[in-house]
This record gives sequence, C-alpha cells and structure tokens, in this order.
Amino acid sequence: MRVPLLDLSEQYRLLAEPIRQELDEILRTQSFILGPKVEEFERALADYCGVRHAIGVSSGTDALLDILMAMEIGPNDAVITTAYTFFATAGCVARLGATPIFVDIDPVTFNISPTAIADFLANECRRDAEGGLIDFQSRRVRAIIPVHLFGLCCEMDTINEIAARYSLLVIEDAAQAIGAEYPAADGRARQAGTMSAVGSLSFYPSKNLGAAGDAGAIICHDDALAERFRTFRQHGMEPRYFHRVIGGNFRIDAIQAAILRIKLPHLDGWSAARRKAADVYGEEFTARGLANEMTLPAEPYRERGLTNHHIYHQYVIRTPRRDALQKHLTARGIGSAIYYPLGLHEQKCFASLGYCAGDLPETERAARETLALPIYPELTREMQQEVVAAIAEFFGT
Ligand SMILES: *Cc1c(COP(=O)(O)O)cnc(C)c1O
Repeated sequence: MRVPLLDLSEQYRLLAEPIRQELDEILRTQSFILGPKVEEFERALADYCGVRHAIGVSSGTDALLDILMAMEIGPNDAVITTAYTFFATAGCVARLGATPIFVDIDPVTFNISPTAIADFLANECRRDAEGGLIDFQSRRVRAIIPVHLFGLCCEMDTINEIAARYSLLVIEDAAQAIGAEYPAADGRARQAGTMSAVGSLSFYPSKNLGAAGDAGAIICHDDALAERFRTFRQHGMEPRYFHRVIGGNFRIDAIQAAILRIKLPHLDGWSAARRKAADVYGEEFTARGLANEMTLPAEPYRERGLTNHHIYHQYVIRTPRRDALQKHLTARGIGSAIYYPLGLHEQKCFASLGYCAGDLPETERAARETLALPIYPELTREMQQEVVAAIAEFFGT
C-alpha cells in the first residue's frame, strides 16, 4: 500500500457541494475583491481565534510583510527569529531592508529557544545614547518573531517576558499552528497568534486550514493596529485613492475566503484526528521498541488541560540515520519530507549576514536528523501500520 505524505482529496470530496455552491455564487455575482464573503470569513476566523480582528490577506508571507511594514520595520532595524523555519519568516524581514538575527532552537520542541534569545540580548546587545537597544553592528533591535513550528506553540510566557524587559515587539508566525493552544501562566489556554501584539496565519493548501490556492490572515486584539494592517493591505489607501503610507496589494480573494469559511467549522475535528493519528504512531512505535531508535515528537503541554495542546501540522521524528530511513521509506512507497534541510543562517541568499556552519548547532543537527511522516485527518490506521512496519523493518526491531 502506498502512503502519501498528504492527501487532500478526501477532505474536498466531503465539502465539494457547499464549496461549489459558494463558487457558483461568486462567479454569478462577479464579486471577487473583498466584500461580504471576506468579511464573513474574517468575523468567523476572529471568533475562532478569540481575537477582535482577523484581516484576510493574500498569503502567510504577505501577512508577515504587511505586519512588518505597518510596524515600520526597515533599514537599520534587526529582528530576532529562528533559522529553523520556512524561508518567509526571515525573507520578509530582509525584503524590507532589515536584518534577521538568528538564534538557536530548543532541541526538544524545535521551537526558538527563549534562553538563546535572552543570551543574545544580554551578551550581544547594548543601549545606545538614546537608550535604544542596538546589536553588535549598531542595528536597532526591534522585534522577535517566534514561529510555532509543526503545530506546537513556543514557550510564549518566557518570550513575552523577555520582550517586555527590552521593549521589543512580538510578532507570532502561527502559519503552522492555527488553533494550537498554550497553557499561559495565568491558567488560561491561549491560542497561537493571539499571545502578543499580532500573529500571522497561512492557508497554503497543505496547512491545517488550507485554501484552494494562496491565502493568509493577520490576527490581533488592538483596534488601531488592525486598522493599520487593513490600510497596508490595500496600498496604504484610506480613503480610496488617497495614500497616507506605502502599502501593497495583500488582499485575500473572495473565493478563498468563501472556501475557508466553509472549512473553518471542521478545523477542530481535523486537528483532533491528526492528534489521534499522532497517538497511534506513538503507541505503535513504543510497542515495536522504535521509541528507543528514534525521538518522537515532544508534547510539553499535553497534561495541561488543553484541547489543542498540539495540532500536528507535521509529525516529525528525529534519528541520526535520517537520510537512510527516508530512502528506505521512499522505496516502499511511503511519503516523507525534510523540514528543513538547511537552516536559514546557512542559505546562500543570507551569506552577507556572516553566519557560518557551527553557529547554530541545534538548528543544524535538526536539519540533519528530522523527518516528517504522513499525517492528516483521513490517514487510516492501516496506512499508519504500513508506515510503522516499514520503519520497524529499517531499524530491525
Ligand atoms: C507556510 C509558512 C509561511 C508562509 O505562508 P504562505 O501562505 O505559504 O506564504 C510562513 N511561515 C511559516 C512558518 C510557514 O510554515
């Protein structure tokens, strides 16, 4: 039996009727740009996330770009983030002329290490004459972008506390973590993207909530900030044809918003099914003695009374024999993927930042050792058993 890394066809089959009706209506009315379909989706998304404002945009990348532009991040600014993420997180910072500063990850969760952030701020930054925080190259350190990788929230209480101490903005890249919860110190469950000033979401088709093309959203609590993000989404235009600031065309399509609106009520069910699949992997790997051969995903918030303690956007194991294991799985028709094979600090396009191999040891080790296995709501137990059997064969257990 072939087991693909991801198969979205079954999800579409179940929702095809309502989706086609929405598309028909939009095509009939020819109302493609913003309008009621977008507003309806934004309202539903804000309610789902527990924020006052959701602003639909053209992609997760453009969500970050819009946010950074609205926050006036630009030349001479520096933004602290992780090198173990999708390119867009740091690409948007660099596109605006600002400098991404990469700090290492926590090897257990693969998320940005709060200790690494604190160490960088304490040891490599200082106050300038005006009291602003500057790094070793005199760039103004402005923000932190934590990325909730693979569907697991970062240690946000600590990150927010560090940010407050240094008056830094926090922008959550929640592209892979819509609905994921974090057990905040005040005892409340807090959702990815809602724990700081602003969060970005992606609806790239393979994300947990996927559009039929590119789409994304910005989520925030503050009314004035939300207005600013909306203005930047439409060329900084307010009112029409009057431009106070230079924005871009970051609008979400009405068609994408309508499809996402239909899918949204199913999201928690899908995330629960992914979590169930993760449990099945965990049980089977343990039963076969494979939990000793490879490291299974950490679930630091599992026993904290949350529903979505992890949403398993990806199920990622680690083993020093990663490349051989992937080759073995491919030969048996089992899909897998490497997120990510090279840290951003070692990417050619960032060579001028001056990082070299060895600078971020945990990022680099993760890039060598991690492998994402098939996980999606419709994955069957039989398919999972196939994956487990192939891995057991590889390790000879
Ligand atoms: C997918 C993703 C993005 C970009 O989203 P797009 O919708 O593909 O532009 C940004 N950051 C992370 C962590 C992602 O996984």
